[in-house]
Amino acid sequence: MKITTEILHNGRGDQDVEVRSVNPVLMRASTILFKDYDTWQHYRDLRKTDRVLSYGARGTTTNFELEKLVCLLEGGYRAQLFPTGLASLAMVLLNYAETGAHFIVSDAIYGPVRTVCDLFLKRVGVEVDFCKADGSDVEQLIKPNTKLLLLESPGSILYEVVDLPKVSKIAHDHGIIVAIDNTYSSGYLYNPLQLGADISVIAATKYLSGHSDVTMGIVVCNEKAWKTFDKLPEALGFTTSPDDCYLVLRGMRTLAVRMAQHERNNDKVVEYLKTRPEIKTIFYPKLESHPNHDVFIRDYKGTNGMLTIEFADGYTKEDAAKFTDALKLFACGARWGGYESLATVTVPPRTASDWSDRGPFVRFHIGLEDPEDLIEDIAQALDSIKK
Ligand SMILES: *Cc1c(COP(=O)(O)O)cnc(C)c1O
Repeated sequence: MKITTEILHNGRGDQDVEVRSVNPVLMRASTILFKDYDTWQHYRDLRKTDRVLSYGARGTTTNFELEKLVCLLEGGYRAQLFPTGLASLAMVLLNYAETGAHFIVSDAIYGPVRTVCDLFLKRVGVEVDFCKADGSDVEQLIKPNTKLLLLESPGSILYEVVDLPKVSKIAHDHGIIVAIDNTYSSGYLYNPLQLGADISVIAATKYLSGHSDVTMGIVVCNEKAWKTFDKLPEALGFTTSPDDCYLVLRGMRTLAVRMAQHERNNDKVVEYLKTRPEIKTIFYPKLESHPNHDVFIRDYKGTNGMLTIEFADGYTKEDAAKFTDALKLFACGARWGGYESLATVTVPPRTASDWSDRGPFVRFHIGLEDPEDLIEDIAQALDSIKK
């Protein structure tokens, strides 16, 4: 079956009953009860390898259905849910942290992850180097003590794309675990575990939930990585609300149609933006002018709603802010992936490359509104800052 069909027909609870609801049961629980001591012991043993009810904090059947569905989407072995996307990324870093270790992290990584590196990893004696956003200098950065490579593709804000098969091979030749933030594709446009990564991280806060009302993160591991990953999050008591899992499952049923519409709308907006002299650069990996266009076309099914523009010379950050304030359909806010359009003035948080003399930049999330309305709105806002 195609993945679009799989998303609809899996993660829905026990389907082998005579009478059932379409959706899985929402099970809330802190306490799980067992008929007797032997049963209790049996389930304690089972939970070492299987997803079984044993203790509320380890998830209920609702959580398990979501884990299974995301694993299916990513072609993973097991998934672990977290309260946020950031917590997922932090836990990938913390899980491999040991004094004397060296990590390589993408220059395009979700900004707040840098705080984990600077504040915590440094303190416990883990050295971190940031590689170029497209991963092209990973080989030069590898040291004998390199344990983990954490990538993001396409990168936040500028959408640099990693040649994952190539970079993973280099890392694996040195015994390094490869993890990648797959939030852009949300398991639908791209399958990093099939292209060489060991761990894929998705902020379910974004497209999986899709309606701007849930925060959640998911770490999906291949079998090798799961053996080294599953203990710490459990020991630290991470848990996720079954209500939120239910909402993410519900969001996922429309993931394919939403992604396709975000891309169509984005394509139309990009075509319009090309005609405006106020804009110098359009950052969109589908464009042939994008530096990693070829790898993107080879490895990705398509784009999502993300788009960044750089204004022409002479435009200031104040002009960019005036532009975003003049927009009526694009709200000022972060945490994209919902149905609505967003626009914010931004600066690419990069240290392995220098963007200080570039900009101003505006990042859009192109939502599910009619693209003609979005284009009309952008047109009037650009007119308002015409020089
Ligand atoms: C938003 C985002 C995250 C963090 O997700 P939260 O649930 O908001 O913590 C991580 N990675 C990327 C690429 C994101 O866009």
